[in-house]
Amino acid sequence: MRLILLGPPGAGKGTQSSRLVKKYSIPQLSTGDMLRAAVAAGTPIGLKAKAVMDAGGLVSDEIVLGIIADRIDEPDAAKGFILDGFPRTVKQAEGLDRLLADKGLSLDAVVELKVNEAELLGRIEKRVKETLAAGGSVRADDNPEAFKTRLHAYREMTAPVSAYYAERGELKTVDGMARIESVSAAIDDAIAAAQNV
Ligand code: ADP
Repeated sequence: MRLILLGPPGAGKGTQSSRLVKKYSIPQLSTGDMLRAAVAAGTPIGLKAKAVMDAGGLVSDEIVLGIIADRIDEPDAAKGFILDGFPRTVKQAEGLDRLLADKGLSLDAVVELKVNEAELLGRIEKRVKETLAAGGSVRADDNPEAFKTRLHAYREMTAPVSAYYAERGELKTVDGMARIESVSAAIDDAIAAAQNV
């Protein structure tokens, strides 16, 4: 099962990915998590990416495509994967197509979580409060200023990715504003529908 979850920051991609990981026993490949790990480890990629990420901008397509190319070659991704936060630009989507075609693989479903953008900042603020209350550390880009930039990047660069898959008839859209369980059920339906085409 090879899936892409699309949707703006705060749409609930992470929450839904964790459930899909269990359901299909495949890894969640979050470029955000991988980049944060690179920043924490102080790798050359991390050093390059940190400032851009903290400000809410997008890391270069070359870097992100390189990370994904390596990651999908790992043994645990052989059975499939959930891409979360990638592709974020049409260039990345085209790069992914090439990567998969070279391996003779294809996508099973592309699911977009549609949300009311006016509510996203509230969701992020809630996540920050809950993380702090649980004694966790808050992401450097979970602040209103960087969030505005993230949303802007989403509208400018990532919304066209939905159009890219929609034009090929591959995009399934799900209401991301419903209760978590309802969103999950709608994603399951979308995946089933994508497999029956
Ligand atoms: P969000 O909660 O905004 O969806 P992510 O954890 O997916 O956050 O990503 C955090 C940051 O990491 C992004 O704002 C961006 O700087 C960088 N990033 C993650 N994935 C990509 C990608 N596919 N292309 C470019 N930059 C990325």
